[in-house]
Amino acid sequence: TNDIINSKVVIITGASSGLGEATARRLADRGAKLVLAARREDRLKALTEDLKAKGAEVIWQVTDVTDRAQVEALAAAAKKAFGRIDVLVNNAGLMPLAPLDALKVDEWDQMVDVNIKGVMYGIAAVLPTMREQHSGHVINLSSVAGHKLFPGAAVYCATKYAVKALSEGLRMEAGDEIRSTNISPGAVATELTSTITDPTAQKAAAELYEVAIDADAVARAIVYAIEQPADVDINEIILRPTAQE
Ligand code: NDP
Repeated sequence: TNDIINSKVVIITGASSGLGEATARRLADRGAKLVLAARREDRLKALTEDLKAKGAEVIWQVTDVTDRAQVEALAAAAKKAFGRIDVLVNNAGLMPLAPLDALKVDEWDQMVDVNIKGVMYGIAAVLPTMREQHSGHVINLSSVAGHKLFPGAAVYCATKYAVKALSEGLRMEAGDEIRSTNISPGAVATELTSTITDPTAQKAAAELYEVAIDADAVARAIVYAIEQPADVDINEIILRPTAQE
């Protein structure tokens, strides 16, 4: 196994499905110590049991990233179990796309709370520990939607632009102790589109996601960022299906 990865303690939010789960599987294979977080306890339990059966060191904690106290408790659980926090994968997110005219204001609130505030709470929960350790790595899931606008996706894009700003802001302030990586995937086959309630947006997403690639493609990108030596900071990875416009 790889020396760099198998010494790392990694927290993954949104580990109950999609990119978070795929990343957990890759990192478990490489010997990382994992702390899995999401709201769905049954999913976290099942994934943990599966990874443990393959010899991985894994704990899980039910965490709603919109609740700062729960995110702080997650970081505390990681330190209690493994003594340190090397990497936070700020991955929890949702994408209920809709045109602004549909006025899905509750969904706007949800996206801001999970996609932006959840990421900020994650940073707040791990930064003091990473400063104490004089090392750490925050990996945020932005999106191609954090680089360009799509009609019907204004609020989602706004949240992913915000994530990109947080990644770059952290990088600039982090000095030589903390690494910051912004991951920007295009269409990846996960449960992400299941949060869309607007029929027009559902149709547009179904078309875009016809070319979607496997979640493991993003997991490999995340592993690549983590496995670099400490003096190499992979700041940005954009990856799309070859067939995506
Ligand atoms: P999924 O819907 O499969 O996974 C989303 C994860 O987020 C789930 O594990 C869910 O777990 C978790 N989550 C949602 N709300 C909360 C919350 N309040 N607290 C804690 N966890 C929460 O989608 P993906 O795997 O695709 O998405 C992962 C990230 O990747 C997101 O940030 C998404 O925006 C981003 N992304 C995805 C792309 C894609 O095409 N799939 C493209 C670009 C970016 P639970 O419901 O159990 O809480």
